[in-house]
Amino acid sequence: MRPTVFLVAVSLLSLHLCLPVSARFFPNVSSIPHNLLLPNVKNTAWDSFRKFSGCHFGERFAGLTKLKQYFYYFGYIPDKVANFTDNFDDQLQSALRTYQQNFNLNVTGQLDEATVEQLIRPRCGNADIVNGSTSMNSGKAKATSNGLRTVSHYSFFPGTPRWRKQNLTYTFWPNNQLGDDTKSVFSRAFQRWAEVIPLNFTESGVYQSADIRIGFFRGDHGDGEPFDGVLGTLAHAFSPPSGWFHLDLDENWVISGDVTASVISSAVDLESVVVHEIGHLLGLGHSSDEEAIMYPTISASSRKVDLRNDDVLGIQQLYGTNPNYNTMLSPSVQQNDTSGTGCVDSRWAINVLVAGGLVLMLL
Ligand SMILES: [Zn+2]
Ligand SMILES: [Zn+2]
Repeated sequence: MRPTVFLVAVSLLSLHLCLPVSARFFPNVSSIPHNLLLPNVKNTAWDSFRKFSGCHFGERFAGLTKLKQYFYYFGYIPDKVANFTDNFDDQLQSALRTYQQNFNLNVTGQLDEATVEQLIRPRCGNADIVNGSTSMNSGKAKATSNGLRTVSHYSFFPGTPRWRKQNLTYTFWPNNQLGDDTKSVFSRAFQRWAEVIPLNFTESGVYQSADIRIGFFRGDHGDGEPFDGVLGTLAHAFSPPSGWFHLDLDENWVISGDVTASVISSAVDLESVVVHEIGHLLGLGHSSDEEAIMYPTISASSRKVDLRNDDVLGIQQLYGTNPNYNTMLSPSVQQNDTSGTGCVDSRWAINVLVAGGLVLMLL
């Protein structure tokens, strides 16, 4: 990030700190306004990608540049955005193959329906691949075929950063003016991780000195990772020890109730996203295990809050086991190969530097 851009970013963040901002929270699905209850909400971040279904290699199709920008953002295309065209070329086909491998799809290199459906699914803003380094399937050896062992999918950040203390504090950006019901969602999510590792999480009222700082922001909010409105990217969090945890202010966050029973296409279960992002805050990268909390996508109107075997093995490799945690009580624990990959996401290393700079500038 250039110095001038960085200063502008800091100014934007400072501006954010001066203005009260309330995110859109709904106590339950029945409290969401009628205009958001349509079965198919249009104009969500990636809804336009549906038109690409069936598009083939060699075709020129209006809008494919935007799809290439998507793949660039998440690390599947290394080239600069300025070079993109609307041609379905080798660049796009290669990105599709890698993406399909990472998300357990048929590796066709084509924009088949299943691939498009996965592409438009809401997801974490963290990249999957940077400079050829992937934390997902495409960067791993094939699973053994004896049927007794499976490959673990968890991964860590560059240098395997982790917190060097057991008692961590978290706090909320005061301008969001969150209610106790919303804050309790975060408390429950932290506790899910604390159950399996020897870490404690306590809410702090002091924003600047807390280890983890949580805020809801809209669009470009000063860290080079802008949010994109309804659905699309939902949140992102930086690796230890930065502690920055940002969520998209424009989502329709549901904080309680059965989100899965609704027909609301844009409702997002807050706790599901928070549990995932805490994994990043503690040092985990993305996983190709669809059942894992650290899988990058989550469908709207769905809920996934329980840590799975892959998540537990990964986080315990970083911090050890909570002496009170009994694996026999966890029905999801299975016999896995515990070999980590060492694959990392270098974007997060950059983010850590940026976050560190923001901290220094704001103090
Ligand atoms: Zn993520
Ligand atoms: Zn951010």
